[in-house]
Amino acid sequence: MKVLKFGGTSVGSAQRMKDVAKLICDGEQKIVVLSAMSGTTNTLVEISDYLYKKNSDGANETINALEKKYMKVIDELYSTETYKQKAAEIVKSHFDYIRSFTKDLFTMFEEKVVLAQGELMSTAMVNLYLNETGVKSELLPALEFMRTDRNAEPDPVYIKEKLSAQLAAKPDATIYITQGFICRNAYGEIDNLQRGGSDYSASLIGAAIMADEIQIWTDIDGMHNNDPRYVDNTKPVRNLHFEEAAELAYFGAKILHPTCILPAKLNNIPVRLLNTMEPEAPGTLIYNQTESSKIKAVAAKDGITAIKIKSGRMLLAYGFLRKVFEIFESYQTAIDMVTTSEVGVSVTIDNTKHLTEILDDLKKFGTVTVDKDMVIICVVGDMEWSNVGFESKAVEALRNIPVRMISYGGSNYNISFLVKSEDKKAALQALSASLFE
Ligand code: ADP
Ligand code: ASP
Ligand code: MG
Repeated sequence: MKVLKFGGTSVGSAQRMKDVAKLICDGEQKIVVLSAMSGTTNTLVEISDYLYKKNSDGANETINALEKKYMKVIDELYSTETYKQKAAEIVKSHFDYIRSFTKDLFTMFEEKVVLAQGELMSTAMVNLYLNETGVKSELLPALEFMRTDRNAEPDPVYIKEKLSAQLAAKPDATIYITQGFICRNAYGEIDNLQRGGSDYSASLIGAAIMADEIQIWTDIDGMHNNDPRYVDNTKPVRNLHFEEAAELAYFGAKILHPTCILPAKLNNIPVRLLNTMEPEAPGTLIYNQTESSKIKAVAAKDGITAIKIKSGRMLLAYGFLRKVFEIFESYQTAIDMVTTSEVGVSVTIDNTKHLTEILDDLKKFGTVTVDKDMVIICVVGDMEWSNVGFESKAVEALRNIPVRMISYGGSNYNISFLVKSEDKKAALQALSASLFE
């Protein structure tokens, strides 16, 4: 069985939902994972902001406007009055529920419940549409099988067990529809897999059922060789190794959620990125083969802070790096890039929640300097160290751009550069011009 995930734009209007229905109804049994309609999660975040601020007028106004949009979609989506009414009732009950939060205490727990409503509505609507058109589809409620553990990591054993039971209870359906993004945490509370996390849902589900393939359907023909939001004439990359895709997703290629590759890779399930607006296009196939000696793509990760620790004591001192890393660990702050020399070490982080405390602690070991508003530019491909010429090509492309750090040799698949965020666009364009044209 295959798992197909459709993102927000792919279910962003009545017409798009109809297109998705056409795409998935080929007689083959499958699991379909849906995001909320595009813009919905952002609006739910906005509503939550009003609720945190106890501005119920602002919340109600935004809730009403969103509800109106949904009612219009319902009107366009269904052809019979019965189904229009059924859908309107369901959607209205979700909006009434969101409205109920204007009366109570609002904390991050309630926010997660509010954020979950988008996926609950889109899946209910598409499922009803399929039923109206005579398709045997069933809803699989994600809140009953998708779960994270005490470390907020997905719990694959639980997911597999509960999902299998749900599938076994509904053996006759041809299409199973379920919500991306939403889950319960170890305490049974409604939670989510972070923004953009529907991709992760799809790959966790794919791994749980040992799917033949996981398909991520979006609004572009596969993974492009550079970020199409900053660079013109980017081209789709037809094949990527799991590791290459993971590096690109982690380092900013928004088309894939960073965590999405791991469950697929561990279970050796191919991931295909496809375009809902152009279903015939080949897209990108992600699997376990490398095309040798090829630079595949470039991506950029924003919001990076670089920290340099200079220390006379580092000279020949074993254990210095451990002490530095332990400080980051004690504040649960992940390090992205590391470069070292005999007199100092530079690292980058993207989570600055504990920056002040980290800097205070680091100052015990040496002189500390910080560069904020930086971007990691990541060049991905077969960069086996014995291949000659690749790293020099990338470095040469950035000859006119100030580079703060370079990291190469950490894996066989990437070389990363740290530049100022104001130089991001120029760096991406320079790399495309010299690597892909
Ligand atoms: P969805 O809502 O379907 O999950 P996303 O907006 O999360 O879609 O991801 C698709 C978008 O990712 C594209 O529209 C494109 O602008 C952006 N993107 C960024 N980098 C890349 C890349 N390297 N290849 C393709 N798309 C990319
Ligand atoms: N709806 C969620 C979001 O906008 C999850 C997703 O689309 O992947 O972040
Ligand atoms: Mg996405």
